[in-house]
Amino acid sequence: MCATQGKKPGAAVAFIAERCPRCRKGPMFQYPKYRLDKLLEMHEHCNVCGLRFERETGFYYGAMYVSYAFTVALVVVEFIFLNAILGIKDANVWYAFILSSMLLMLPLFFRYSRVLYIRMAGRVSYDPRAEFHPEKAVADPYRKSQIPT
Ligand SMILES: [Zn+2]
Repeated sequence: MCATQGKKPGAAVAFIAERCPRCRKGPMFQYPKYRLDKLLEMHEHCNVCGLRFERETGFYYGAMYVSYAFTVALVVVEFIFLNAILGIKDANVWYAFILSSMLLMLPLFFRYSRVLYIRMAGRVSYDPRAEFHPEKAVADPYRKSQIPT
């Protein structure tokens, strides 16, 4: 039984925990974040409500733009922090600090860009009834089982 079953999961908590955008309970990724070799392996469907995560072929190419925005935001914030707050004027220190933090954040940016992208572009909104009516997943137009073979 899921620990959050019966509770209404918050949007921020569901986002940080990389949960399904529709039921906010099913995990989107198969492995934890520290498994770098399996970083982007996602479940095909939500195991709670049945939502298909890969909305269409190549759907997550658009997540690259979200990841790029995350990276630019990180660089700008770090540059302001180093230059204006700490007063460091040595460009080599900037490069070392910013490049190392980018490498450290890269796995998180990959994952959270997908989590954010399916919420923005996937046309999926939170449905508190989805968990209790998994048959609604059959009405998902992207569900693979509905595609005639
Ligand atoms: Zn779900």
